[in-house]
Amino acid sequence: MAAVEIIRSGELAQHDWMRQAACKGLTHLFFPTPAERPQARERREATAREVCASCSVRSSCCEFARDEHEYGLWGGESEDERHAAGFRLIAPIGVRARSTG
Ligand code: SF4
Repeated sequence: MAAVEIIRSGELAQHDWMRQAACKGLTHLFFPTPAERPQARERREATAREVCASCSVRSSCCEFARDEHEYGLWGGESEDERHAAGFRLIAPIGVRARSTG
């Protein structure tokens, strides 16, 4: 179940664009596993970005993730990229990892 499907089943079901998400059934590509290595993250996110590139609701998805300060990869954009674009997270995973390393 993709992130958008999880949200659709909850209180945010009013976001109709989620019905057309190309990532249905591919949640494992959009969020890191515990202790994911950088190389594995790059491979996973590259595959997820390919899915997003063909998705008809990419702009709505990207806007939603920015507004809601979501974690994971949404609309072809990682949380680090949203953070760098000014859509700050409290503790973005990649930024936090780099600042403590
Ligand atoms: S843009 Fe990517 S993350 Fe967003 S709904 Fe489409 S496939 Fe899923």
